[in-house]
Amino acid sequence: ATVSASSTVDMHEWHPVRRNGDALTVLWSNILLPDKSILSIGLDITERKKVEYQLAVKATTDDLTGCFNRFSILRQFKEALVVCAPGDPFSHFSILMLDLDHFKNINDRWGHLTGDAALLHFCEKIRELSLPDYALGRLGGEEFLILLPRTDDQSALLFSQKLRLALTEKPLFNNGEKITLSFSGGVVFVTGGVSDTSVLLTLADNALYDAKRTGRSKTVISEPAL
Ligand code: GH3
Ligand code: MG
Ligand code: MG
Repeated sequence: ATVSASSTVDMHEWHPVRRNGDALTVLWSNILLPDKSILSIGLDITERKKVEYQLAVKATTDDLTGCFNRFSILRQFKEALVVCAPGDPFSHFSILMLDLDHFKNINDRWGHLTGDAALLHFCEKIRELSLPDYALGRLGGEEFLILLPRTDDQSALLFSQKLRLALTEKPLFNNGEKITLSFSGGVVFVTGGVSDTSVLLTLADNALYDAKRTGRSKTVISEPAL
């Protein structure tokens, strides 16, 4: 198959499949010799590619919770913002910023390991309720950001209310003791026209702060950016 392809000196990636079905990654080159014959050179880089993929996953994943890390979720946010156009219902989205309430108390009362388990439990409940195209990232500590494509602020609010209910119905158990997690949230509906993620993150942060200030365990919708 490759010999019949046009000759090229540059190496290109080729994915031949072994008889047993394994896909290989091969760096391949066809070099046209003066006598018009073709010299094909292949380097099997399958293992290297696997390691590269594992490194790429590690570089974008939060170790503890398995959700996207700060770098990755903010990059996805930027990318979503670039294609978000006013009036286009397929590119609009909401961001939901979440912060666990009085999380320090969980560490203080049950210890850091239980605090870690609580963070994981929180993310699991979010994943259980999320649609496949939602993206969940950890901004740091006990603060998370969810991107909800094609979702307006009311639907994002509804999502956070379902999450609150799920955390109550399925609490974390620590040696038989029930730990019900509570969180506050800030929602911003993004419909295009704003090019700077930091403006929108500040709006979400302010809405989250309002939720904290007015009693916690609630989600506040931010006023539109425009
Ligand atoms: P508030 O309701 O105002 O958000 O109060 P809070 O206690 O949740 O907030 P505060 O910022 O006072 O404390 C956050 C705590 O989160 C402090 C820190 O020790 C804990 N924390 C941050 N990252 C981790 C982590 O990876 N594991 C554990 N166990 N705790 C963490
Ligand atoms: Mg907190
Ligand atoms: Mg916090």
